[in-house]
Amino acid sequence: MEKLPEPLSAQDKSSFAYLTIRDRLPVILSRVADTVYRKKVAIKDSHGEDATHELKFIAGCISKLRNELQTNKAVIPLKDNASDTEVWNASIAAETDKEGQEPKWFVSPWLYVECYMYRRIMEAINQCKVLHELDPFEEQKMKAFTGSEEAIEVLLHYLKDITEKIEAATEEDKDEYFTEFLQIALWGNRCDLSISASQENSQTESILDQLHHLESNILINDTKQVLHCLKSNTRDRNIDIVLDNAGFELITDLCLAEILLACGWADCIRMHGKAMPWFVSDVTARDFQWTLDSLCKSSRPAMAYFGRQWSQRLENSSWKLTCEDFWTTPYDFAEMKTHASSLYESFRDTKIIFFKGDLNYRKLLGDLNWNPTTPFEVTLRGFHPAPLCALRACKADLIAGLAPGQKETVEKQDKKWMINGNWSVISFCGKSNQ
Ligand code: MG
Repeated sequence: MEKLPEPLSAQDKSSFAYLTIRDRLPVILSRVADTVYRKKVAIKDSHGEDATHELKFIAGCISKLRNELQTNKAVIPLKDNASDTEVWNASIAAETDKEGQEPKWFVSPWLYVECYMYRRIMEAINQCKVLHELDPFEEQKMKAFTGSEEAIEVLLHYLKDITEKIEAATEEDKDEYFTEFLQIALWGNRCDLSISASQENSQTESILDQLHHLESNILINDTKQVLHCLKSNTRDRNIDIVLDNAGFELITDLCLAEILLACGWADCIRMHGKAMPWFVSDVTARDFQWTLDSLCKSSRPAMAYFGRQWSQRLENSSWKLTCEDFWTTPYDFAEMKTHASSLYESFRDTKIIFFKGDLNYRKLLGDLNWNPTTPFEVTLRGFHPAPLCALRACKADLIAGLAPGQKETVEKQDKKWMINGNWSVISFCGKSNQ
């Protein structure tokens, strides 16, 4: 095998990564501290005096973490007793061995320290007795949903129309519906609270109006191969979606899941969320349930309709949600077979895995500084549990699978094309090792 490229580093001053570590992560930590402070009175009322001591403890931990980050201290082992603590501490030891020194905030790979920061926030919360279920990003995620309600109702009304006529639809119609909802799920990925340093980021316009206009910004569009994969495999009746963000994006993913069932291409859609609050807006099991409950309670007709429909899907197992620890470890996906072999094996009977969003894309590519024309399949470095498709709005400075000259062309149009979320890829790899 040829030598792999270097990991993206927080040291490269021209890169977005530098901004992320130096400027964005402290902002996210400050916001967590603000949230904790603002919750003081409400939490004292609901959980009693002990809880306020725990809030002080969490605030102290966050402030210490912020200081470690800003002064480029070494990454230290975790002290809590969670199901993934050992895994994390083993990874810190492994990083130390590789570099010959302890991992540090501005020296170690960007992906590693960014994941570690979110895990350290949880370390503080995990050590609490009363507040161990606190989600410091919950309010922001809820706001991202409620701020997008109008756009959600428009989208779900449209989905309802389509599902009502799909039985009489031709194969060409189905292809068209799928293509449209694939692009909706793709652009739904623009709403990301960790990228906006947890500023409000709701979808206020109808995404349907924007689709046509956005199509020319899809740099790689493997929709035809994805369609072929969905239809040619008649044996496997499961499809997996590895989710990214709560709020509007989650609704677009649920729409995709609904269309896949409605087209008759699967019997079960298995969705994968995060086992802990992660990268601000990522979906946890609690966010998922809260979203369905909010839809059910809505006075808007299409939202209420799909709230009921989707709750039933969970009950009758045509939808499943699992939140494996692996997704919130620092490991990239080429390491899944070693570190989460049962998860890897569970993809044996899937037709295709959809990976949503930027972090999943970074973990697919190992967060390495690939030449942009390297084929997508090569960048997966042997991760082929099943055919897979990455749906990603570009928000970090790595990409693979571009045509020669394509990078130079898009750079002329938009200097920030790699990071501003206005460009995207639908990248497919059909290889399967199982
Ligand atoms: Mg995310």
